[in-house]
Amino acid sequence: MSNLSKDVSDFVGKISKRNPHEPEFMQAVTEVAETIIPFIEDHKKYKDANVLERMCEPERVMMFRVPWVDDQNNVQVNRGFRVQMNSAIGPYKGGLRFHPTVNLSVLKFLAFEQVFKNSLTTLPLGGGKGGSDFDPKGKSDAEVMRFCQSFMTELSKHIGGYTDVPAGDIGVGAREIGFLFGQYKRLNNEFTGVLTGKGLSYGGSLIRTEATGYGLVYFAKEVMDANDDSLEGKVCAVSGSGNVAQYAIEKLIEFGAKPVTVSDSGGCIYDPDGIDTEKLEFIKELKNEKRGRISEYADKYKAAEFHKDITPWNIKVDFAFPCATQNELPLEDAKTLVKNGCKGVFEGANMPTTEEALSYFREQKIFFSPGKASNAGGVATSGLEMSQNAQRISWTRDEVDYRLKMIMRSIHKNCVDYGTGSDGYVDYVKGANIAGFVKVADAMIAQGVV
Ligand code: GLU
Repeated sequence: MSNLSKDVSDFVGKISKRNPHEPEFMQAVTEVAETIIPFIEDHKKYKDANVLERMCEPERVMMFRVPWVDDQNNVQVNRGFRVQMNSAIGPYKGGLRFHPTVNLSVLKFLAFEQVFKNSLTTLPLGGGKGGSDFDPKGKSDAEVMRFCQSFMTELSKHIGGYTDVPAGDIGVGAREIGFLFGQYKRLNNEFTGVLTGKGLSYGGSLIRTEATGYGLVYFAKEVMDANDDSLEGKVCAVSGSGNVAQYAIEKLIEFGAKPVTVSDSGGCIYDPDGIDTEKLEFIKELKNEKRGRISEYADKYKAAEFHKDITPWNIKVDFAFPCATQNELPLEDAKTLVKNGCKGVFEGANMPTTEEALSYFREQKIFFSPGKASNAGGVATSGLEMSQNAQRISWTRDEVDYRLKMIMRSIHKNCVDYGTGSDGYVDYVKGANIAGFVKVADAMIAQGVV
């Protein structure tokens, strides 16, 4: 933990006592407390209403058994969750994650981050997150369907278009959202926008699939524009090879940058020639259709190297885009990046940078955008999907893309407004936290002690 002031460490100590054994949740709370507590000192109404402590307590948490039958007729059991964190500014909104590492701490950290992120989008979205320790990897489509149906049978009691609107996250993509939506509709006899990230033929929005990755690069472009720089010709390290990484790479290529890495849990690809559109199509097919391993990229493209044990952060690059998962960029890698001349880190995943690495980047005063700001394009476009569903219309690709761009611009502006220091350095972490906090806190105060 970095050096905390007494007020911050007292606060963190109190929350930690109530939430023992939840390291990821406490990491997210600590990062927010470090920037919000000094702000609250100068804005007494938030302190008097004890808003920050209230925000650290989920409004409601559901944990439930998810039994299902595998292809060998064995009865399996997983654990399902939904954390309804904060509904001050809109219905709970946030993805579902299916991954063996899912537990209450991970989902509470994600739900907590989601509250601030959703507030930043300018849209009326509360914050929540859910999921299961179920691992879709290696499961047949039929097994995934039976699991999703069982999961939704319980979850459906707690969600609704005006209550809580889940979407995808790691391990939950188009296939899973389809199965979940089908079961919700069957149980409730109601065709409604209860999930986002839906297929285009049943209420999905254009650009939703691309939105997190595109939004991330739109945000990076805003940072470039504000500093008379550009992404053109910049060498970029991207981690992950799922939805966020794929569409970040697509936009980076479009803006003339040179993405050189991708990764998965098996290792990292370094392609010194750069990943172009054709290679990106190969990655999409490999990951989305064949559900294969990223090492196969190096079998196909001989100039590329596959490394089992190194991360993309060991390559000399101008910018880094961590798009895989939490805590994938530790201090050692942060130092290597800076030593190699990296000038900016833009988080596409949620909390991919460890606490120590984050403090180091901020000390070094390189551009650093936290996921809650730079990956907010995904949930923002979910918000746009909800608006279209409510009006029973669908906007064109250009219309959604334009709105996404404008939202990322506004998030960037908010971060600059609240995060610019006396020396002109923009602390995007501070800016995002304060801007996200103020809107939710004002709504909470207006609604009384509820
Ligand atoms: N899982 C995504 C996130 O981390 C999207 C959530 C949503 O669209 O509701 O923001």
